[in-house]
Amino acid sequence: MSLELVRFDTQLMENPEVKGVEYQQGTLAGYEVREYLLEKWNHHCSYCGKTDVPLHVEHIRPRAHGGTNRVSNLCLACEKCNTAKGTKDIAAFLKKKPDVLQRIQAQAKAPLKDAAAANASRWALFDRLKATGLPVEVGSGGLTKFNRTSRELPKTHWLDATCVGKSTPEKLLVQQVVPLLITATGHGNRQMCLPDTYGFPRTSAKGAKKVKGFQTGDMVKAIVTRGKKKGTYVGRVAVRRTGSFNIKTRRETIQGVSYHYCHMLHQSDGYSYIQGGVLPPHA
Ligand SMILES: [Zn+2]
Repeated sequence: MSLELVRFDTQLMENPEVKGVEYQQGTLAGYEVREYLLEKWNHHCSYCGKTDVPLHVEHIRPRAHGGTNRVSNLCLACEKCNTAKGTKDIAAFLKKKPDVLQRIQAQAKAPLKDAAAANASRWALFDRLKATGLPVEVGSGGLTKFNRTSRELPKTHWLDATCVGKSTPEKLLVQQVVPLLITATGHGNRQMCLPDTYGFPRTSAKGAKKVKGFQTGDMVKAIVTRGKKKGTYVGRVAVRRTGSFNIKTRRETIQGVSYHYCHMLHQSDGYSYIQGGVLPPHA
C-alpha cells in the first residue's frame, strides 16, 4: 500500500546533496521545493498577492548577488512580477513598498508550521494501515507530482493515486482502466423528527429506516410492468412507509413506484460509487 503522507519531503529538501541542484528543472527535489513554497506562500505571488496564476520560483536575494538556493531564500512570483523584478535585488525592487519588503523578509525566515506539513488524520490513517500487517510505503505530494509528470499522465485524482510512492513503476499501464470513484454520502439525518419554529414536532417520529427491506439511498432496479410508469428504472430509492417509493435515476425522479417492482442492486453503505471515464488512447 502506498500512502501520500506529507505534502513535501523536508528531509530531501534539506539534504546537502540535493540542496545545490537546480530545482526548476523538473527534478524530484524541485517538485518537493515547489510544493513546499506553495504551502509556505499560500499559493499567492509573494509580491502582489495574485493567486490562481502560474507561479515562478524566485530568489529573494538574486544568485548574481550571492543569494543561495536554500528554501529560506526562495519565494513565488507571478509572471508579471517575475519579469518586473528581473535580477534586481529585492530591496531595490520593493523600494517604494517597504511594508511588502518587510513582510516577505519575515515570512521567508519563518519555518513552516508542522501542522501544515502533515495533518493528523493522515497519520491516523498511516497507523491503521500499518496495523493490517501489510507492507506500507509512504511518499510525499512532491514525489507524486514528479512521478505523474515524468510519466506524462494527465492530472486526475485517480492517476495521482497510482503515482504515490517510490514503488511507482516506470511504465504505468493505465489505458482501459475504469476507476471506481467513491464519495462519502453519509447515512442521512439522525434527527427523529423535524421541529417547527417553536420546537414542537412538525412530522411524526421516524421509525425504522427500512421499509420492505429497502432503505433510502439503496441502488435499485425497478421493472414496472404496467400502468403509466411502465419501464425499467435504475437509481437511488427514497423509501416511504406506504411502500410507494421514489426512484432517482440519472435523468429524472420517478415518483410512486411500488416496492413490488424493486430489486436491490446495492445496499446503501454511506458511500456513492460511480464508474469513472476511461482515458483516451492518446493520453
Ligand atoms: Zn505578482
